[in-house]
This record gives sequence, structure tokens and C-alpha cells, in this order.
Amino acid sequence: MPAQPDGAVDTREGDRIEAPVVVNAAGLWSPSVAGLAGIALPIVIGRHPVFLVERDAGFGPAHVVYLDLAGGSYVRPETGDLTMTGSLTDDETRHPMDPERLGEDVGLDEAIPVLERTGRAVPRLADATYRRGYAGAFDITPDWMPIIDESPLRGFYVAAGMSGHGFKLAPAVGEMMAALITGTESPVSLMPFRLPGASSRRISDDMLICHIRWHASHRSRRSEDRDAS
Ligand SMILES: Cc1cc2nc3c(=O)[nH]c(=O)nc-3n(C[C@H](O)[C@H](O)[C@H](O)COP(=O)(O)OP(=O)(O)OC[C@H]3O[C@@H](n4cnc5c(N)ncnc54)[C@H](O)[C@@H]3O)c2cc1C
Repeated sequence: MPAQPDGAVDTREGDRIEAPVVVNAAGLWSPSVAGLAGIALPIVIGRHPVFLVERDAGFGPAHVVYLDLAGGSYVRPETGDLTMTGSLTDDETRHPMDPERLGEDVGLDEAIPVLERTGRAVPRLADATYRRGYAGAFDITPDWMPIIDESPLRGFYVAAGMSGHGFKLAPAVGEMMAALITGTESPVSLMPFRLPGASSRRISDDMLICHIRWHASHRSRRSEDRDAS
């Protein structure tokens, strides 16, 4: 039900829920939850398929978690002898997805180019047996940084747009959101995390350097791929 200007929500059953503070932390569903309050979030739900392969019996102890930024793939051990792998091509915004399709099966045709990169990163995984692929997704903002802000609707806060790195950011996001709501000092400047469009959203120097390195590594990998083909 639409939120009222006083922060309350009137349900279809006629109940009234007083909620002076509401935090939208609905991940992939955060744009649709914001839509209930008439707020548009600049977040794309971008498809990110993942693949499971089974390491052969002679592989030995599980490998480490490994990101091959130059080659464009990552691996992490799953339970049993499985390895989860996926692409680091940074192109998820070009593949918008309905979050309700999360977990849908992915065909082998999509797996093959990713598994080739995985095999280059960890050659012993080149012989692993393909088990399955399924669709994951990221909630992506224009600069791939989360939104931690109060929306234009007073009392309606947003902690979303984690852009594929919300798990490791979670403790910091929690502390920052608590500071924002209680009006205390945030441990980290909130400025770069304001809703895009708010004039003060800026990427810090550290983030900028990180982004430049990330995109440069992808550009160089893509041009190597082009040269090789
Ligand atoms: C393949 C893959 C690999 C990843 N690897 C990493 C990684 O290595 N490191 C990392 O930091 N991050 C990683 N991430 C990203 C990370 O998983 C997410 O950024 C993080 O889980 C987002 O947390 P969240 O709390 O914002 O959203 P979620 O964890 O999605 O939580 C949102 C919750 O809101 C609930 N919800 C939705 N709609 C409603 C509603 N209407 N009412 C009530 N509840 C609702 C949902 O059920 C869900 O429980 C990866 C993501 C993928 C897909």
C-alpha cells in the first residue's frame, strides 16, 4: 500500500502501521519496493550467471578463492568437490533481468566461453566436469557503488544497489545506515553513497583509482581477446 506523508502505511485490511523510519534493503527487489512509495531508484538488475564444475578425484585439496582480473574469471570452492566459477566481464548492466528469474538454469552454450577463461586461470580446472549453470544477479548503480541515503520521501531510507559486493560491505553499510538514521557521525563519509542525482554524490579518489584499474584491466583483456580472434 502507498506510504502516507506522515510515514504510516494503510493496509488493504484497513490497519494502519506507524513507521516513521523505513529502510529499503530489498536487494534485487529494492527498485520495486521503492516504487511502492513512488520513488525511482537508478538501479539496474543485471544478470550474472554462475557455473558449477566438479574437480576430478586427483585434484587434491580444494583451491583458494581466486579472482583473475586480467583474464576475466573467478573461482571459489563449493561443498564437495565442486568449484563455483563465473565471469568478471563487468557487462551485467547490458543484461537486465527480472529478479523473479533468479536461479533459472543456464545453458552450456553460455558456460563454454566462461569455462575457457576459468581453465586459463587455473589450468587444472580445464578438465573439470561441468555440472550446471544458473542465473544470479546484481543490483547495480551507475557507478557500481551502493546507495546509502534517505530518499526524497522523509523517513524512507535506501541501503541498496550493492552492485555485486554487498556481502563484504554489509557491516560498514549497517553502521553507516544506523548513523544516518540516528543523526550521529558516520564512520565513513556518506557523501559518495548518496542517491545519484544528489549534487554531492562524488566518487572518492580511492574509489576512482580502483575503478580505473578495474576497467583498464578489462579493456586490456578485451583487446587481447580481439587480437587473438
Ligand atoms: C554470483 C554472485 C557472487 C557474489 N559474490 C560476492 C562476493 O564475493 N563478495 C561480496 O561482497 N558480494 C558478492 N555478491 C553480492 C552479494 O551477494 C550482494 O551484494 C548482497 O547479498 C546484497 O545484500 P542485500 O542485503 O543488499 O540484499 P539481499 O541479500 O538480496 O537481501 C534482500 C532481502 O530482501 C528481501 N525482500 C525482497 N523484497 C522484499 C519485500 N517486498 N518485503 C520484504 N522483504 C523483501 C529478500 O527476500 C532478501 O532476503 C555476489 C552476488 C552474486 C550473485
